[in-house]
Amino acid sequence: MSKKKIALLGATGSIGKSTIEVVKKHYDKFEIALATAHKNHKILFEYAEKLNIPYLAITNEKLKSKINTNKKIYFGEDKLLELLNNLNYDILLNAVVGSAGLRYTVAGLRSKHNIALANKESLVMAGDIIIKMAKKNECRLIPIDSEHSAIMQCLLGNSLSSQIRKIILTASGGPFNNWKLEDFDKIKLKDTLKHPTWKMGKKITIDSATMANKGLEVIEAHHLFGLKYEQIEVVIHPQSIIHSMVEFIDGSILSQMSYPDMKIPIQFALSYPERIPASAQFTDITSLPDLTFHKVDYDKFPILKIAYQVGKAGGIMPTIFNASNEAAVSLFLREKIKFNDIYKIIEKSLNKSNIANPDLETILSIDKKVKKEILATANLRELTRI
Ligand code: NDP
Ligand code: MG
Repeated sequence: MSKKKIALLGATGSIGKSTIEVVKKHYDKFEIALATAHKNHKILFEYAEKLNIPYLAITNEKLKSKINTNKKIYFGEDKLLELLNNLNYDILLNAVVGSAGLRYTVAGLRSKHNIALANKESLVMAGDIIIKMAKKNECRLIPIDSEHSAIMQCLLGNSLSSQIRKIILTASGGPFNNWKLEDFDKIKLKDTLKHPTWKMGKKITIDSATMANKGLEVIEAHHLFGLKYEQIEVVIHPQSIIHSMVEFIDGSILSQMSYPDMKIPIQFALSYPERIPASAQFTDITSLPDLTFHKVDYDKFPILKIAYQVGKAGGIMPTIFNASNEAAVSLFLREKIKFNDIYKIIEKSLNKSNIANPDLETILSIDKKVKKEILATANLRELTRI
């Protein structure tokens, strides 16, 4: 395998950090051509020193006047988009959180680059556009999300969609899997941030607790694997060892398993189609807890049900779903609303008429509009801390 040059967007986050660890372990195979932060410039500079990263970008333009450095930094979203167009790299790893990631996925595809995609929001908002663009420009779209990586791995050599009966996305159930519905009113932010099996960024940790994350993943899977929503099932698997499954028409089920560690799907997305030695711990299957599976309680997790509905409706609905969720999570993180308000805000936002086949501009403007409306109800202007 020749050395791959990676453009790493969102280097300072949880996926970014795990990617840095994979690159450190395989410095002979990977190098980082570009790394970005939104505001954590200190971490970005640390990585740049350690890994000799030639190009750095900070997407939060407001920091331009505040950071004192002799390094060459590209500030702002537009400068980064330009760089993604002109720079020499082999694969764009998009680990930006939220709808902000969409324009970078599109820029990577437009400039005919393969994409290792952690930013699931890109596919939720603009799945039709992205899949079409990837096909047209002959770019690979390789999922990093552990469930989608698992499905992709189960489909290696079995990729005919006519042979797939359904896919089963596993979900840990998050911190409230064993809570009673009547106690959901008492949920505090600190309870929500304690994910039982995965250590992740704050936004996806809240999304895992509400199961909005699984809802986003259902829509992501629909686009990535070209399956009907009826063929996508979600099952609670609290141990997070089996990362997802595919059931074929002959009754066989294939699954992929390992300890929960994002370094495994990240590394596979970078080494694909090859496999290279692990940068994560090997799984000792004799020491695993019992693996259990049970159905989702949709009364406790209504957002997952809403996600199926917006996915089936298509058009602009998944964008409204995603935007209202991001805004609600931002309010919850600032303790402006209660846990149970998150789904109520999403439900209320969806009370709009649909727009079929929206273009990118429409998607981006509706995303902004929906967030603005929700933040205005809390007298806030900016979405922060997701
Ligand atoms: P984090 O919150 O840990 O990191 C987010 C990254 O995005 C940071 O580098 C942050 O920069 C950057 N960022 C934040 N806002 C913006 C913006 N407006 N423009 C550009 N960059 C921005 O998130 P995670 O790493 O947990 O998640 C990243 C993505 O990967 C999400 O889409 C998530 O759903 C997906 N994912 C994550 C998994 C996980 O295990 N964490 C698993 C599967 C998918 P800074 O820190 O400098 O502010
Ligand atoms: Mg996932």
